[in-house]
Amino acid sequence: MAGPSGVGKGTLIARARTLAPGVELATSATTRPPREDERDGREYHFLTAAEFARRAASGDFLEHVSYAGNRYGTLRDEVERRLADGRSVVLEIEVAGAREIRRQMPDAVLVFVAPPTMADLEARLRGRRQNTETEVRDRLRIAAEELQAQPEFDHVITNDDVDRAAADLAALMRTAMTAKEHP
Ligand code: 5GP
Repeated sequence: MAGPSGVGKGTLIARARTLAPGVELATSATTRPPREDERDGREYHFLTAAEFARRAASGDFLEHVSYAGNRYGTLRDEVERRLADGRSVVLEIEVAGAREIRRQMPDAVLVFVAPPTMADLEARLRGRRQNTETEVRDRLRIAAEELQAQPEFDHVITNDDVDRAAADLAALMRTAMTAKEHP
C-alpha cells in the first residue's frame, strides 16, 4: 500500500489487520533517525547509512528508495519467507517503491490511499507534530507528485472516514487472501 506521508496509512493498516486477521506487516528498514516513540525492529529496522548501503549492495532489499533525504527499503527477509509459507504480507511504502514491487511481484495488489484534499493532508502532517516546517513542505511537495500516480494502482481508497476506509482495505485484504488460496 502506498500514499502520501501523513495520509494515515499506518492507522488504516493497523485497523484493517484487526478486521482481516492473517495479514502480516513487513517492517521496513530506514536510515531516518527514530522518533521518540519508535523502537528498532518495531516501526522500522533503523540502520546506519553504511549498513543500509551494505545491505543494498548485497541484494537484501526487494526495493529501496531515497525519500526526503533518507533511505527506506523493504527487506526480502520480511516478505519472501512469509509468502513461501503461504502467508500474506502488507507493505507500507511510498509510490516509487510500489512501482518496483509491481515489477518484481506482478501478483501484488497495489492500493493507493488518498487524502480527501491537499489541505486536509497538510493539516494532518502539521497536526501529528512529527516533522519540522522544512520536512512538512518537503513531504507536501512529494505528496503532490505521488497523487499523480493514482491511476497506476489497482485500488484507490480515500481516507475521508477512517472506519469506512479501514473496512474497504480489510475487504481488499480478504479478497487477496482468498485469491492466493484459490488461484
Ligand atoms: P516516515 O519517515 O514518515 O516513516 O516515512 C516516509 C515515507 O516512506 C512514507 O510514505 C512511508 O510509507 C515510506 N516508506 C516506509 N518504508 C518504506 C519502504 O520500505 N520502502 C519504500 N519505498 N517506502 C517506504
